[in-house]
Amino acid sequence: MTNERPAVAILGGGFAGVALALQLRGRATVHLYEPAAPGPGLAYATPHPSHLLNVPATGMSLYPDRPGHFAEWLAARGGAGPESGPVFAPRAVYGAYLREEWAAAVAADAGLRHVPRRVVALHPRPGGGHVLTDASGARAEADEVVLAVGGFAGGGGQPPHLWGDPWDPAARAGLPPEEPVLLVGLGLTMVDVLLALREGGHRGPVLAVSRHGWLPLAHVPGAFPAPWPVAVPEGEGVLPLWRRLRREAARAVAAGQPWQAVLDGVRPQVQRLWQGWDAAQRGRFLRHARSAWNLHRHRLAPGVAACLAAELAGGGLRTLAARLEDWSPRGAGVEAVLRRRHGGEARVMVSRIILCTGPEGGQSWREAEPLWSLLAEGRLVLDAQRLGVRTDAACRALDAAGRVVPGLSVLGPLTRGRLWEVTAVPEIRGQAAALADRLAGGKAGDSV
Ligand SMILES: Cc1cc2nc3c(=O)[nH]c(=O)nc-3n(C[C@H](O)[C@H](O)[C@H](O)COP(=O)(O)OP(=O)(O)OC[C@H]3O[C@@H](n4cnc5c(N)ncnc54)[C@H](O)[C@@H]3O)c2cc1C
Repeated sequence: MTNERPAVAILGGGFAGVALALQLRGRATVHLYEPAAPGPGLAYATPHPSHLLNVPATGMSLYPDRPGHFAEWLAARGGAGPESGPVFAPRAVYGAYLREEWAAAVAADAGLRHVPRRVVALHPRPGGGHVLTDASGARAEADEVVLAVGGFAGGGGQPPHLWGDPWDPAARAGLPPEEPVLLVGLGLTMVDVLLALREGGHRGPVLAVSRHGWLPLAHVPGAFPAPWPVAVPEGEGVLPLWRRLRREAARAVAAGQPWQAVLDGVRPQVQRLWQGWDAAQRGRFLRHARSAWNLHRHRLAPGVAACLAAELAGGGLRTLAARLEDWSPRGAGVEAVLRRRHGGEARVMVSRIILCTGPEGGQSWREAEPLWSLLAEGRLVLDAQRLGVRTDAACRALDAAGRVVPGLSVLGPLTRGRLWEVTAVPEIRGQAAALADRLAGGKAGDSV
């Protein structure tokens, strides 16, 4: 330690890393390792104006204690104010907000520093803390290290036929405008890729497939409904919960409220419910309810839903309940073999296949350093559901023997094994604030 403040190294300068760094302002010396500009990360680096936030501006503040901060920032820059109804801003605009907040904080606090490189190795320092090695070979020491590397590393696939990173612009580059494309996955990532294709001038037919064949659902257009009160008792299992939600949705609709209000009512309880479930119940939820949950929980902005509806109505997008079984290059294109959900095979010729399934589809964070080595050495361990790594209630990493790894914390989607509901801004910013308190010595051991 060079002064009174702890030296904190944060690996990853996406939303989570930046939210934590800003919370540590004035309380720690922070080195934020991020190869790109701090702020946008994976979600908000998109240049496409059609890629909108899926949470209204009023829910997207960086700061849990100032919930209106982003909406005010947006209104001050000419965006519609909260009084004109929910605003789903372009994600690129939100990326600019994060970059700007980071830049302002760095200008005001000499204790915040961006290191524009990846960390590739992490070793315990005798006496506590860690020694980090970055991609240039430079070494640095830190009292506390935080892994905020997101939930997806991208990459993989077998270009030029099969693309594993849906956010890589190369996956769409050089595509003949009229040629058909196959998208594997039917969630929000597929919608991102479809919109980016159209923005880039692609007019050809798009076939999108997933196991269930379900498309994402949308937020209610117009005024945002108040959350419908749902009181879920302690210890309620997966099936009773599912029945309860269906019952409450029917009651809400009968009372003139949309079903979406029920999901918003239960969302603040999801971390508690998940933590009350044992491994068997969590497994049951993931096997039987995950797809349906994601569909209802991660909803499209109304404007994006309208584009999707127009694509379906115009025949530009077709969907199929099927999985990609095999593929092989044919001339300039590729033949895909699809196994239909209800039996039978379909063969389609397309110019390329883009995997839009997220972490399951391409290279995952598990294969990237330094996590790969930390896992291989048992200094980190996957949680029982393999959603992320094991952590305790204060975001401290746990090793293979279940012991706290001193000086190593985890933030954001990698803590899904403990919390499940920790992939979006409203949850991550709260987690970052609580972790900052612990790291800065404010409230050691606090639950996050
Ligand atoms: C496409 C998309 C859209 C989303 N839209 C919304 C939305 O509208 N509203 C909402 O609330 N939530 C949304 N989310 C969810 C949520 O906001 C994101 O999951 C959140 O931004 C996660 O941030 P993160 O910092 O954990 O991860 P990331 O954004 O993935 O950032 C991780 C960063 O870590 C860096 N990194 C990785 N390894 C290293 C290393 N070894 N050394 C240094 N740096 C490293 C990477 O370069 C990357 O920038 C969206 C998510 C996605 C993927």
